[in-house]
Amino acid sequence: MEFLENYIDGTYQAPSSGLYLDNVNPSTGQVYAKIPLSGEQDLAQAVDAAERALPLWSNMSANERSAVLLRLAAGIEARMGEFVQAESRDNGKPEKLAAHVDIPRAVSNFHFFATAIEHFASESHYMEKVGINFTTRRPIGIVGCISPWNLPLYLFSWKIAPALAAGNCVIAKPSEITPYTASLLGKIANEAGVPPGVLNILHGTGPEIGNAIVAHPKIKAISFTGGTATGQHIARVAAPMFKKLSLELGGKNPTVIFPDVDIEATVKEVFRSSFSNQGQICLCGSRIFIHDNIYEAFRNAFVEWVDSAKVSFPSDPKAQIGAVVSQGHMEKILNYIELAKEEGGVILTGGKRLKLDPPHHEGYYISPTVIEGLPNECRTNQEEIFGPVVTLMPFKDEAEVLNLANGTKYGLAASVWTQDLNRAHRMADRLEMGIVWVNSWLVRDLRTPFGGMKDSGVGREGGWEALRFFTEPKNIFIKYE
Ligand code: NDP
Repeated sequence: MEFLENYIDGTYQAPSSGLYLDNVNPSTGQVYAKIPLSGEQDLAQAVDAAERALPLWSNMSANERSAVLLRLAAGIEARMGEFVQAESRDNGKPEKLAAHVDIPRAVSNFHFFATAIEHFASESHYMEKVGINFTTRRPIGIVGCISPWNLPLYLFSWKIAPALAAGNCVIAKPSEITPYTASLLGKIANEAGVPPGVLNILHGTGPEIGNAIVAHPKIKAISFTGGTATGQHIARVAAPMFKKLSLELGGKNPTVIFPDVDIEATVKEVFRSSFSNQGQICLCGSRIFIHDNIYEAFRNAFVEWVDSAKVSFPSDPKAQIGAVVSQGHMEKILNYIELAKEEGGVILTGGKRLKLDPPHHEGYYISPTVIEGLPNECRTNQEEIFGPVVTLMPFKDEAEVLNLANGTKYGLAASVWTQDLNRAHRMADRLEMGIVWVNSWLVRDLRTPFGGMKDSGVGREGGWEALRFFTEPKNIFIKYE
């Protein structure tokens, strides 16, 4: 049995409590490693190390920091196979997905921010005959990064990379459910020449070590991705301390299909937007609105396509859908499917746990599920399920579907499918979402602002937004004689 350790001050260390949590492989349901149950003492060591490292790292030139982060990106890339297998074993996702999306994207995150920092400029504002303002942007200091389990290294690096590039020292906590690739990152950081104490990775539970990070007075900013309820808690702890906060939270995203689409092509894309990563991507569309004129044709083609999807263990090269992340999460999803039935929903396909052959017979597999017959207001259509479950709803016109699409507390992402350019513009403008894709889904450009409106979060990540978040602006005015 492997025992993971915290990465503090450039070295791997056992938790001061001596206690560990189980790390389960969701594709088999078996414990395969142990995770440190860290607490305040581990955090104190990490904060001390970060404080010692800060003068060196924050005063390095952007160019020098960039070189270190480029080596970090190259280090992950050189061990792609190891990272892919580790991510897939920890999370249950098909290896194919980890190889095409998760790990290459983690490499891109470090590469992108390593190069972005070299182009990051601050503003100046000239006042005719009066003087000039110029704004400096210095690192904040020690910052906390807390990430979820769905895209483990991808989202962990999406925070750490800009924080480090901007010159901060980082205390980071991956999800206790998927800690493995984050624990590998320490080795790569050492090989890349990240100075000791600049990056510290602590494992353990949200309520213990996560909360301690948020509450620590020397940690000046928190970048968090996770559920809306956790985000609310973090805001309550951090706000009275006037910490800078970036909160990327949940969603209940609409997929809107107009009657002028190519049904066959759109079915395949909507399958991807519904069930990628077992539906466990905050951007997945879970409420599918289909225009009355094509409702039946689209529904039948979609259900047929979903029916033919292969649910299998992660190393099966034919797997389109793997295991969901944990037993607890599987039970939550199955409970939502029961709720949907109680609310009057009709299961068109899926709706149950699947038993694969040994050694995967105790893994957490759910067949992709399509439900119809539910109103937008019911709990199934209002609460985030975060699994391979979608509902289908018909609509008559643009005004109606806008109301329905905007009719939840969330506002993260939407996709709109139509050949009518004017309609696409109108819809994109009126959807209350941080991100709208037209005739596409999850096309990502790392320069664009990423995040949600309403209860889907506060602030944006990506591009300059992230570098602005991780720096403290200071305006300096100089008077002309
Ligand atoms: P959680 O909110 O449960 O956990 C996210 C992270 O926060 C984990 O590392 C968790 O630790 C930690 N945490 C939990 N409680 C606390 C606390 N009191 N103080 C500090 N940290 C805490 O989310 P999930 O991991 O279940 O992730 C799924 C959610 O993430 C979904 O709602 C999804 O929509 C959202 N998400 C949003 C994205 C976006 O960009 N908007 C992207 C991806 C996911 P631990 O694991 O130990 O509990």
